[in-house]
Amino acid sequence: MPTNHRITQIEDYAQYVDDVTIERIQEKARSIAHLHITNVSSTYYGGGVAELLSSLTLLMNSAGIKTGWRVVQGASDYFGVTKKMHNALQGGKINLSDRKKQIYEEVVYENAVRNHLDHDRVIIHDPQPLPMVMHYQKRGPWIWHCHVDMSQPDRDLWHYLRPFVEHYDAAVFSLEEYAQALDTPQVFMMPAIDPFIVKNKALSDAEIQERLNHYDIPTDLPIVTQISRFDRWKDPEGAIKAFQIAQQEVDATLVLLGEIAADDPEGDRVYNSLLEYQNERIILLAKEDTALVNALQSRAAVVLQKSIREGFGLTVTEAMWKGAAVVGGNVGGIRYQIEDGKNGFLVDSVEQTAERIVELVQNQDLRQRLGENARETVRDNFLMIRLLEQYIDILGGFETQYQLTATPSASGTAL
Ligand code: UDP
Repeated sequence: MPTNHRITQIEDYAQYVDDVTIERIQEKARSIAHLHITNVSSTYYGGGVAELLSSLTLLMNSAGIKTGWRVVQGASDYFGVTKKMHNALQGGKINLSDRKKQIYEEVVYENAVRNHLDHDRVIIHDPQPLPMVMHYQKRGPWIWHCHVDMSQPDRDLWHYLRPFVEHYDAAVFSLEEYAQALDTPQVFMMPAIDPFIVKNKALSDAEIQERLNHYDIPTDLPIVTQISRFDRWKDPEGAIKAFQIAQQEVDATLVLLGEIAADDPEGDRVYNSLLEYQNERIILLAKEDTALVNALQSRAAVVLQKSIREGFGLTVTEAMWKGAAVVGGNVGGIRYQIEDGKNGFLVDSVEQTAERIVELVQNQDLRQRLGENARETVRDNFLMIRLLEQYIDILGGFETQYQLTATPSASGTAL
């Protein structure tokens, strides 16, 4: 069917990487074009995994690799359990009762029945659909891609989940330091962003202003922003407290923007707990608007990501791509994106965050220097074309049917 629509192609990245790289990746894509691949995750929107899959699945298809994406369906009690698991994998507590296990396993079983995963490669994302592998006669290798901060997983929970993981043929984590004691081969690759989507493409000043006006965001003072799901690991309260301290020395407006993801039942509660801080200069917005994300990241004097756990942190990359001065929590994947003092700042406390906000609001030259370096970091390391190549390496790297022989090019390093 003829169409006027166009999706991003590998060659569109020629403006960011050299021709040899483009040709190499095209060649690799051709080598796995016979494979039919599917992804399973827990939501089509909200959060980094959905963001990643939206772009990656299209890019793979435009490269000739038949790649689908499905989502598990479940009632709120299931997502209540999986959110607790997510929290516990990141170091929180969980009371892992039989009832929780039953809800989890039953919903996953129902989804396994409903989906017919007879693909050449199946990629399961995060813990929500993890046990699906137990219900199929595999037709090809299955890969579990875990996106959370696995530096201190709850031991009991991991003991329970690990046998499921060991039914996979490979496990992918964002960082080598998230490696676990597993019989399954482990591969490490950091997420990446799509520079061509509305959220990340260059906006004109007028377009930025239009979005900010639309939400009545004042632009008379410098903007400090944090854009994240309303989730305690993102420490929105810490961001507000840091801003309040900074306000004693500089005038600025704080905007906390967050969408409530479909698979995150805690978002409303976290959002409501912050309402008491709201005033003329502390603005809380629960909206889904990718152009607004872009406008805020592009216009802000300071972008915060004051997380206390962060598997990777796509918001950090997105803001760095816009040349923003980013202040990130010194945790997880953020430490692999920000080199302290070179392309942003890493912070360990509310007080330190406040100091950096003051310094950056007062010093435009510093913001510019960090921002320029930040954009270069993203261009060299964190664009989707790099992740595409790593994915192709894994998907094509099973020599005997279930034996992963090749490992992808080093995680997150320059192309
Ligand atoms: N995001 C968004 N709107 C919001 C808040 C977040 O579009 O109001 C997006 C954000 O731009 C990023 C993703 O959600 O692409 C969050 O990914 P990240 O890795 O930072 O965190 P996660 O939510 O996966 O923990």
